[in-house]
Amino acid sequence: MVTSEFVPLAKTGGLADMVAALSAELARMGHDVRVVMPRYYGIDIDDCEKVAGPLGVPLGFGDSWAAVYKTYSGNADVPVYLLDHEGLFGRDGIYGTRKEPDFTDNVERFTLLCRGAFQLCKSLGWIPEVIHGHDWPAALASVYLNTWERTGPFGNTGSVLTIHNLGYQGIYPKNDIHITQLDWEHYHGSGFEFFGQLNLLKAGLRNADILTTVSPTYAREIQTAEYGHQMDGLLRHRSEDLFGVLNGMDYEAWNPEDDPLIEKNYSYQTLERKAANTKALREEFGLEQDPARPVIGVVSRLADQKGFGDLCGPTHGSLYEICSDFEVDVVILGTGDSWCEEELRSLEARLPNLGVKLAFDNRLAHLVEAGSDFFLMPSRYEPCGLNQMYSLRYGTLPIVHRTGGLADTVKNLDPKTGDGTGFVFDLLTPRAIYDTVGWAVWTWYHRRDQIDGMRIRAMQQRFLWEDSAARYVELYQWAIDRRTGRVPRSW
Ligand code: ADP
Repeated sequence: MVTSEFVPLAKTGGLADMVAALSAELARMGHDVRVVMPRYYGIDIDDCEKVAGPLGVPLGFGDSWAAVYKTYSGNADVPVYLLDHEGLFGRDGIYGTRKEPDFTDNVERFTLLCRGAFQLCKSLGWIPEVIHGHDWPAALASVYLNTWERTGPFGNTGSVLTIHNLGYQGIYPKNDIHITQLDWEHYHGSGFEFFGQLNLLKAGLRNADILTTVSPTYAREIQTAEYGHQMDGLLRHRSEDLFGVLNGMDYEAWNPEDDPLIEKNYSYQTLERKAANTKALREEFGLEQDPARPVIGVVSRLADQKGFGDLCGPTHGSLYEICSDFEVDVVILGTGDSWCEEELRSLEARLPNLGVKLAFDNRLAHLVEAGSDFFLMPSRYEPCGLNQMYSLRYGTLPIVHRTGGLADTVKNLDPKTGDGTGFVFDLLTPRAIYDTVGWAVWTWYHRRDQIDGMRIRAMQQRFLWEDSAARYVELYQWAIDRRTGRVPRSW
C-alpha cells in the first residue's frame, strides 16, 4: 500500500481509515501486506525500529536520502514503513496548511514517496505482487511501474489505484515533471498533460492496471461530465478496468452497545435508552430540553462538497427555513471553509434551536450519532461516506442526497410499506433539502411506527470489511493478469 494517510498516524479524511482497515483485513486473510507512507513531523518515531537507511531515492537532478522507520498498525500484523526526510516532511501539514493549503513542493514530496516505495522494496529484498496506491499522492507508483520499473524485479507486479475523491488530483506546474525523472515525452505519453499543467492523478489513471473507487455508484458517476472533474472521458475509456468497491465500516469503534464515548449504551432492542444520549447532546450544544422534538445531527467537513452551499450558502440555503419552520433542533459539528464557519456562527446567533460546534472532536462525533434522531448529509458528491453508515448503526436515520456511497447504503422510505432506512432526495437544491427534512419530520410526528421500524432495520445493516477485502483480492489478481498480459488492458 502506498499512501499519504493511515489511521492513527496521519488522517485528514476517510482515506486514512480505509487504508488501515483494508490492510488489516487482508493481513487477517493471510496476505503479506506492507504499507509505505511519509513520516510527517507529527508522527512520533521514538518507539519505531530504524530499518534500511539511508535510502537513496532518485529525485530531480540527483538522489535524495531518506531514513526509514518501521512501526505496526494497531494490533494488526501490518508493517508500516515511514520515509523520513526532514526537508520534505519535517513540517506541519500533510498536503499543506491552513495558510498554504497545497505545498508548492508537493511533486517532490510525493515523488519521494512513490519512487521511495520501489527503492525500499529493493533494499528489503521484498517484491510485492501488487502495488496498491491511494489517490493522487500515490499515483506516480503506477507510472513508475510502466517506465523505470517496467522490467526487472517489478516486471510482474500489477498496480491498483483507488480514487477516494476525484475532486483532488494533484495539479502542478508542468516543469515539475523533471522532479519525477521522467523525460518530456512522458508529459503527453504517460498522460500527465492537463490544460498545460502536470496532473499526477491523471497519469495514474492512465497507467494503473486496475482502477477502483469506493462505491459502485461513484464508479458510474465519475464517468459522467457532471461528476467527472474533467477525467470522465479518460475514465469512460478505461471503464472495463474501473470498479466500485464499497468501503466497510469499523463496527468495533462504532457500536452503540458498548461505545464508551456516549452517555448510555443501547441496542435495537433497548432503543428507549437512546433518549439519554439525546438529552446529553442537547445539554452539550446548549439547547432547551424537549424530548418530543426530534434532533437532526450533522458531523462533517464544512465544504461545498458536503452540500453546505445549499444548506447555508451566504445568499441561499435552507437551514434558516428548516430551523424556523419545523419543530426540530439541529446540531452541527464540523470544521472547514471559513465562509461556512462564519455563516453557521451567524445563523446560530439568530436561531435558538440551532447548536453549532466548530471543532474536530471524536467524542462529540459519537455523541451526535447516538443522540440525534436524524442525520443530515446532503453531499454534492460522496465517494463512499462513513457518517451515514455510523448513523445507520446508531439508529439515527440518514437524510441524504442520492449520490455515490450514500445511494449505495441508504434505502429511501417507502411510505406505503414503511420499508427503507432513511430519506433520500434526487437533486441537490436548498428546496430539496428543505422538503426532505420536512418529510422526515412529518413522519416523526405522524408515523412513529414507520420511524421505529426503520430504526431497527437501519441498526441491522452491515457493511463489512471482510466482503470488501475479498473483492480487492479478486481485483489484485486481475491487475496481475493485466500486467502479465494474460488479460489485455483497455488502454
Ligand atoms: P470525508 O472523508 O469526505 O471527510 P467521510 O464521511 O468519509 O468524509 O469521513 C469523515 C470522517 O471524519 C468520519 O470518521 C467522521 O466522523 C470524521 N469527522 C469529520 N468531521 C469531524 C469532526 N468535526 N469531528 C470529529 N470527527 C469528524
